[in-house]
Amino acid sequence: MTMMLSSDAKQQPDDGRKPKTGSGMRKKLYIRTYGSQMNVYDSQRMADTLAPLGYEQGDTADDADLILLNTCHIREKASEKVFSELGRLRLLQEAAAAEGRRLLIGVAGCVAQAEGEDIVRRAPQVDLVVGPQTYHRLPDLVARALGGESGRDLIDIDFPSESIFDFLPEEATAPGAAAFLSVQEGCDKFCSFCVVPYTRGAEVSRPVKDLVAEARRLVRRGTLEITLLGQNVTAYHGEGPDGSEWGLGRLLERLSEIEGLARLRYPTSHPRDVDEELLAARRALDKLMPFLHLPVQSGSDRILAAMNRKHDSAFYHRISERLRTAQPDLALSSDFIVGFPGESDQDFAATLRLVTEIGYAQAYSFKYSPRPGTPAASAGAAVPEEVKDERLAMLQQLLNEQQTAFNRATVGKKMELLLERPGKHPGQLIGRSPWMQSVVVQAPQRLLDKTIEV
Ligand code: SAH
Ligand code: SF4
Repeated sequence: MTMMLSSDAKQQPDDGRKPKTGSGMRKKLYIRTYGSQMNVYDSQRMADTLAPLGYEQGDTADDADLILLNTCHIREKASEKVFSELGRLRLLQEAAAAEGRRLLIGVAGCVAQAEGEDIVRRAPQVDLVVGPQTYHRLPDLVARALGGESGRDLIDIDFPSESIFDFLPEEATAPGAAAFLSVQEGCDKFCSFCVVPYTRGAEVSRPVKDLVAEARRLVRRGTLEITLLGQNVTAYHGEGPDGSEWGLGRLLERLSEIEGLARLRYPTSHPRDVDEELLAARRALDKLMPFLHLPVQSGSDRILAAMNRKHDSAFYHRISERLRTAQPDLALSSDFIVGFPGESDQDFAATLRLVTEIGYAQAYSFKYSPRPGTPAASAGAAVPEEVKDERLAMLQQLLNEQQTAFNRATVGKKMELLLERPGKHPGQLIGRSPWMQSVVVQAPQRLLDKTIEV
């Protein structure tokens, strides 16, 4: 179930001219983003790095001068999709060449990292390949491609010793009322099904002072809500202002002191990382929204062990309890994988039991899909596809019932919304509740990007 999102597109003046900018001709960039919020964030940063070369982001591939596919393969065999997309782009490239224009094509993200040289071998129309840790070097790669270099020379999928965050320019595009802030990258947990530690590399956290500075900039430009991003945000352990290592709890406390910032969220947590400081933050910080994504994957201890999750179901129950005690109106969401190798009917029943006992406001569930190079891909008995389908349908039915019940229970409640976008009909705006629910209201346009009580 891969989401496909077109990253934020800035409208181009469509007057046919290509005016000069300080650094050369204005050029059109189109980025196609696959995958999660993290990839959307990365795509925005890629656009920022290319802005000084005169690239402006557009919302279609038509007459683009540079097309980047920012790929993801956490849950799907994304490579084949990317190659077939590259086939289509080749036609665009040929059409551009017939008009005397050069169209550069680049592949970024996890598929770039995993396939590397194979990309230019199978798809010679690709001009450059860049991994998730090296996209700050895009301007150099693009300049070299325009200068005539090609093929292997323009593959940059290192895991460099420098942190990518030290090389990214300030945000070129205005942030919205709800903005993302990337606090860490990579993961050291090595869940046996997961490709992230291999494609994103080891865990790296950004220093607190950089994050506070970026958050302040966002708030000055109108952001009210900041969502901290990373492959596993709760693993955050960045350098504090005093030189010691700070965990996520202290970072949240520091960020919540920023005047004008109304809401803080962080999406991905590993149950094992929930520590005293994080619980204290949940108790003390009004700005920390009462909604937490706390993936469990399975309710079966046998499967959790095979997944190398480093916790059992009892531990998950305890952590959920403690979080809910710390923040009584906290709602939980989760991720589930059904059909992990060796998952029996009893194992799956344990997952349904855990869902019933915990009670979720929302959740994502996926059929297990082997990722090449991960330990789970070569272990255990595969669960037949139709069994996976059946289990997924049962689990999703239960999760949907819980979600509906949760939403029903908020009817008639007074709550604060952050109005993020226009609704379908005139006079409507759509806001986000503290619990990540989308709420449609009748409200004047001037309230867009503001919080209101409803
Ligand atoms: N770091 C996050 C999740 C990253 S991937 C965390 O630990 O919570 C997002 C979700 O994709 C995972 O939680 C898992 O449910 C799912 N996923 C990852 N690899 C998968 C695979 N091989 N097959 C099916 N689902 C997978
Ligand atoms: Fe993958 Fe596990 Fe790391 Fe999440 S915690 S990114 S599932 S290895």
